[in-house]
This record gives sequence, structure tokens and C-alpha cells, in this order.
Amino acid sequence: MTLSIAIVGAGPAGYYTAEAAQKQWGNAVRIDIIDRLPTPYGLIRAGVAPDHQSIKAVTKRYEATNLAPGTRLVSNVTVGQDVSVEELLSLYDAVVLSVGAPLDKALGIPGDDLPGVVGSAAFVGWYNGHPDHAGLAVDLSHHGAAIIGNGNVAIDCARILAKTVDELASTDIAGHALATLAKSAVRDVHIVGRRGPHQASFTTKEAGELGHLVRAQPIVKPADLPPEAEDAALEPGHRKMVTHLRSFAGQPRNEKPVTINFEFFRRPVAVEGHGKAERLIVETTRLEDGQARGTGELHAIPCGLVIACIGYRTAAIPGVNWSDALGRFPTDDAGRIAPGLYASGWARRGPSGTIGTNRPDGFGVVEAMVADGITAAGKAGPAGLDALLATRGLRALDFAAWQKIEAAEVAQARPGAPREKIVDVTKMLAIAG
Ligand code: NAP
Repeated sequence: MTLSIAIVGAGPAGYYTAEAAQKQWGNAVRIDIIDRLPTPYGLIRAGVAPDHQSIKAVTKRYEATNLAPGTRLVSNVTVGQDVSVEELLSLYDAVVLSVGAPLDKALGIPGDDLPGVVGSAAFVGWYNGHPDHAGLAVDLSHHGAAIIGNGNVAIDCARILAKTVDELASTDIAGHALATLAKSAVRDVHIVGRRGPHQASFTTKEAGELGHLVRAQPIVKPADLPPEAEDAALEPGHRKMVTHLRSFAGQPRNEKPVTINFEFFRRPVAVEGHGKAERLIVETTRLEDGQARGTGELHAIPCGLVIACIGYRTAAIPGVNWSDALGRFPTDDAGRIAPGLYASGWARRGPSGTIGTNRPDGFGVVEAMVADGITAAGKAGPAGLDALLATRGLRALDFAAWQKIEAAEVAQARPGAPREKIVDVTKMLAIAG
């Protein structure tokens, strides 16, 4: 008998889980990687910044995983809607939810529902051509933009707003986003952090990159930096990141027309405007036991766009235990949710770490399956899923269909760009044939 595993989510966590299962069981396992979109690769395609193409090269590895014998992509199928997790558990020996964290954490301040306020899932999805967000109305007619959060996603958003069209044209940024950015009036980007430079979670490369933009100058207020001697207590990588922030501080204003202003020690308290965002109100903070405490001093940042880059949540799936407090499925450290049901990646540990962090995660969940004694129990597996989808008149796509979509994207790319993404699912289905 052959072991069968369903992995829900064709992103990095899903592919590393599949790779681990292939290494563990070789030819004795059948793996279905199920995704709701016709396209695989999850965050690589829709999250990683378009100007970070080298990170995207990892899709070659995922492609090899998917093309290995016994492994299929079953795309255009939404688990929890087209097929339930309970049904998957009846068809496969183990089910792994590697569905990521595609929902924005709520900002939860007055005015956060005004037009012009968006979450990073939506904004990043917009410039990356994710079908859910390609139609987002992004108004760049105001000279100011405020980005809330001091993580790498905030830096990605700032960089995309600050770069020139020439800097972006050779990337796979979605055509609609490039066209909107080409007409952008944004000149002052503000990255708002409720704590200070030492508490920021930027990484070294991402912070340093801001010092090399064609038309933008990063600006840090010297007064926001702690005494340099205190950097010694930082972990070496983080210390290097802070060194970049120090290099941005106290520089004379240069001739570059765009500024990226680090607004440390500022807590967002409201978005104000007449019918749309016109300013972000922030309260100055000070650190108490490492936490940001408001001082009562308010300040307005003029902006027509507010992007909340404050973290993500996993979407609940009917029938699976889910924690509102955690924003994901509660699991043990190895990713166990229930007998035969596991989670890996952001769906297990929350939205943290790099793409590579998902690799040990995938291998960890397979180790847990082995420890749990998961064995082939004669379940229907992939053939059973095909039969179930057929009874429902549902049309799943496979990896060959994705390759057709990919070929069409490559064929319609701007000169010098790797692809022009197709952002409409109906169009993808037509190309898949
Ligand atoms: P993150 O690094 O966790 O940063 C989230 C930021 O939001 C923190 O600065 C946090 O501040 C702030 N925040 C949370 N709630 C807030 C609130 N209510 N008001 C104001 N600020 C709030 O998350 P991320 O930037 O979304 O990135 C997610 C993961 O993907 C990270 O591990 C990141 O490194 C990774 N990533 C990597 C790359 C890359 O390698 N190039 C690119 C993008 C993302 P506190 O610290 O005060 O809580």
C-alpha cells in the first residue's frame, strides 16, 4: 500500500513539506499539493518583493519537488469550500495545512476604514498581481504616504513607493501597479514605528538597500538613536542593521526628490480626513520595559495612503480548531493539530522568518508524522480526490496547466522583465485550456 499525503497550500511551507515527505518515503508516498489559485508558489509569487528576483529563484527547487514522481499539483481547489478537511482526512493518511497567513491584522484605530487605508497583504498583493488584490484602488495623488510597522514588509512597501519606474520596469511588478506608480505624486514616505531603532525588526540587507535608491533619501532623526555604546548589546546581525540606520542619521538633505522618513517612537492613534485618508495621527512614545508607552504628545503626518504592515493572520478553515488570539491554528511545537492533521509554515508558527525558515518547518512536520506512526491505511488518496471533485463538477488544474500559464506570462513580459503576471483567474483558466 502507498502512503498518501495532502498538503494544502502550494507556497514555500507546502513545498518544503512535500520535499521532506519525498525524502522520508521516496516512491512509497503519493503527495497532492492543493491550492485555491491556479498558480503555485504562494508568497514567492505574491509576497516577495518584485525587485528581489534572486529570492524567487527558489521556485526552481519547488518545481523539481512538484515534478518528482508521485507528487501532483491540484490547483484551483479551495479546501474548506470545494472539499472539506474532514473529507481530505478520510481520503489521505495525513493532511498538512500550509496555507500561510494571507489576512491583514486589523489596525484597530479610528479612521482605519477610510479609503486610502490598506493592509500590507492587500498592498503587496496589489503590486505583485495577486488575483484577490489586483483590483485594489491605490490613490497615489497625495505627496505623503505613511507605512505603519518596523518590519521588512514596511521596508518593501517604502522601497516600491520610492523607486523609479526604471528601477521597477525590469522586475515582475504587475503592469497595473507600475502604471499607477509611474504617475505617483508621493514624495514623502514615512515609516512609523511604535518603538525605536533597536527594537525594529528590519534585517541588514533590507535596511541598507534604502541607502542606494536612485531618487530617494532615507532619513533618521539622530535623537531617535540610542547612544552608540548600547549597540554592543545587540546580536551582531541586528547591530549591523542599526549601523545602516545610524548612517542615515544626520545626513544633509541631498538632491533626491523623495524622502523615506523613519518615524521612530510614534504610535498610530487615528487616521483623519474628509471621506478619505488625509493624515495619520501618531502619539510620541517612550520605552518602558521594552514596551511602547504613549506620552500624550500628538503629531499629524500628512498622507493620502496609509499602509498597515503590522503582521498577518491565517484564515480559519471550517472544521479545524482555530485561535482568534493567535490568528492561526493552535498546534504543538511539531505542528500537530489533531490526529492525522498538521500545520507547517506561517499557519503553524505565525508570520515570521524568511522563506528558508519554512524548510526546517516542513521537515519537522514530517518527523512528527513518523513519530506518530502515520502509515498507509489503504485510503483512496489522489484517485479519491479526483473522484470527489468530479462528482461536484469541479475543475482542478495540474502542474502542466500552471506551466502553460507561466509560458503565457513570460511571452507577454515587458522587455527585460521576467514575466507579466496574469492577475485574472478566469483568464488563467482559459489559458490552461
Ligand atoms: P514583523 O517583522 O513582525 O513587523 C511587524 C511590525 O509591526 C513590528 O514593527 C511591530 O511592532 C509592528 N506592529 C504590530 N502591531 C502594531 C500596531 N498595532 N501598531 C503599530 N505597529 C504595530 O512583520 P512583517 O514586516 O510583516 O514581516 C513578516 C515576516 O516576513 C518577518 O519575519 C519578515 O522578516 C519577513 N519578511 C522578510 C523579507 C526579506 O527577507 N526580504 C521581506 C518581507 C518580509 P512591535 O515590534 O513593537 O510589535
